[in-house]
Amino acid sequence: MIVSKQKPFAEILAALGEAGRIFLVGCAKCATVCKAGGEEQIWQMQELLAAAGKEVTGSIVIDEACHLLRVQRDLRGKGEPVRHAEALLVLACGAGVQSVSAAVEQRTVAGLDTLFLGNIRRFGHFEQRCSLCGECLLNETAGICPVTVCPKGMLNGPCGGMDEGKCEVNAEAECVWSQIYSRLKARGEFAPLIRTTPAKDFSKMRKPGSLKLER
Ligand code: SF4
Ligand code: SF4
Repeated sequence: MIVSKQKPFAEILAALGEAGRIFLVGCAKCATVCKAGGEEQIWQMQELLAAAGKEVTGSIVIDEACHLLRVQRDLRGKGEPVRHAEALLVLACGAGVQSVSAAVEQRTVAGLDTLFLGNIRRFGHFEQRCSLCGECLLNETAGICPVTVCPKGMLNGPCGGMDEGKCEVNAEAECVWSQIYSRLKARGEFAPLIRTTPAKDFSKMRKPGSLKLER
């Protein structure tokens, strides 16, 4: 899931600038789970904008704001409230903002900061476990990602600073490579520990991003 959080209202207001008529867009998927861009946050934003002297022409919470064609269709279906707006304020991740921006002529303002791909620990608690490196090593590392979770991104750890299984960088945390070792050992899988993982191919993470997957 994509984890995001709302920008400070003053920042949103500054980004809206002179635009007086605003249409609000939320996302029913990730932004709703993060309590950043669901129905509730759209209502709260509507009240804040009204108090700041803005007119909210309408709103919609799109099923998946990252879906380009769905966003285009749903916004077209909203008709006049969208056309009448001077700007669209989007409470969705960066992908959602770009879907909206591709679908309308008006200025599109991002109301959230997009943080990371997150695992859900419990409601409202998210953890970064994967940083989308494009070359997954989990088959070699007992399903624990050292690229993301080890502070040094060690591919062949542990580093020299591990102390009795604790991480050199964060003494509260167990060293990722200690966890990987314990898990592999419990399964009797030693082959991944003997192999040396070559340096990552960072061309797979190259920017500007132009990756596409068609199936
Ligand atoms: S190695 Fe880690 S960062 Fe890369 S794809 Fe796998 S889980 Fe994600
Ligand atoms: S102690 Fe382990 S988790 Fe911490 S930086 Fe070194 S290898 Fe990574």
